[in-house]
Amino acid sequence: MIQVRVKPGIEEKLRSYFPWVYRPEIASYSRKPQKGEHVVVRDAGGHFIGYGYINPDANISVRLLSFNKEKKITYELIKERIESAYIYRKSLSLDTDAFRLIHSEGDFLPGLVVDVYRSHAVVEFTTFGMNLMRDWVISALLEVLKPAGIYEKKNEYIQKIEGFETQEGIIYGDVPPEIIIREKDLNYYVNIPQGQKTGFYLDQRRARSIIRSLVKPGFTCLDVFCHTGGFALNMKKAGAKEVIAVDISSQALEVGKKNAHLNNLDGIVWVEENAFDFMRKLHREGQTFDLVLMDPPSFAKNKASVPSALRGYKELCVRGLHVVKRGGYLVIYSCSFHITAEHLFQVLVDAARDVGRHLRVINMSFQDLDHPWILQVPNTLYLKGIYVEVL
Ligand code: SAH
Repeated sequence: MIQVRVKPGIEEKLRSYFPWVYRPEIASYSRKPQKGEHVVVRDAGGHFIGYGYINPDANISVRLLSFNKEKKITYELIKERIESAYIYRKSLSLDTDAFRLIHSEGDFLPGLVVDVYRSHAVVEFTTFGMNLMRDWVISALLEVLKPAGIYEKKNEYIQKIEGFETQEGIIYGDVPPEIIIREKDLNYYVNIPQGQKTGFYLDQRRARSIIRSLVKPGFTCLDVFCHTGGFALNMKKAGAKEVIAVDISSQALEVGKKNAHLNNLDGIVWVEENAFDFMRKLHREGQTFDLVLMDPPSFAKNKASVPSALRGYKELCVRGLHVVKRGGYLVIYSCSFHITAEHLFQVLVDAARDVGRHLRVINMSFQDLDHPWILQVPNTLYLKGIYVEVL
């Protein structure tokens, strides 16, 4: 196996189980590596650090899967990881038939995402190295999970970073284009080929449950960036008198309407508009709400876009605060790893100064536990939510 030596000092973070080696951190190779090849990573003194796979063209050049000399990357290792991920998910006793089974580095399988919708699995291969091991992954999934079908979802963003084209379509068995999943007492349509992510925002499950208990009968609620209505439905189910749900995608709103119908939740107002414009209009009209929730798409896909993303969040928070009643609640999420909770605190402080309000923090949330946050791997924490009472 090809040997990769890292520069002096780099071993420190790797010995704390940080699983990435960036290209400039590599001192030498024992020979020129092939894209996706398995490698042994060694420190400057030649001591073993771990086994991984390499993509010499990518900024994150090596992703480590094993820090144990006895555990090389084999089919057995992949299967073992999938098995323990599955055991962990079962131990969570999630009240749903849809969950994330593999969360990439969060399950020590960098480059692999697997979501389960009832008896069907949706997979994404997001690195060249993991894509090369796709046959192992599929065989292991069949052995461990025994799904009725597996669908592979394309991810356009990967081409730029990893230099390969991801594929889309059924790769095993049968997968209907639309599946109805259950989460607690609500059902949702998941359109796998057309939906965002793998079809549903599973990661917001914990947040949906917080919103469910925050909303009191008679509340007026605004769900901004509602997508297929995960939050809007919970607001209505909690007894909200009025729910306005806004998104720019007519396709997502159509599914949202179907979801409301499926659950006999009438009266949600679905609005197809740009969220920023719509909130400005509500403010001009003097409309206010007991709860304003904003779950925007990732404004910061990389470090360089953080400043402009923060301006976007600030703008959103100002507009949101304008339409929250005094004593009402504002909730904001960020699904970008690059935007930290501290960033959101500062954005909220800045926005509150502009509109002259105090903000009392009443809760915080992260992605739900089937999207594991491994403390040693910072990017496994990506979804943050701050819940404030507007005084
Ligand atoms: N809250 C949703 C997930 C939101 S994802 C849920 O829990 O399911 C982000 C959503 O923002 C997407 O549905 C996307 O269509 C929408 N979106 C992106 N830009 C927008 C804009 N400028 N105005 C309104 N919606 C927008």
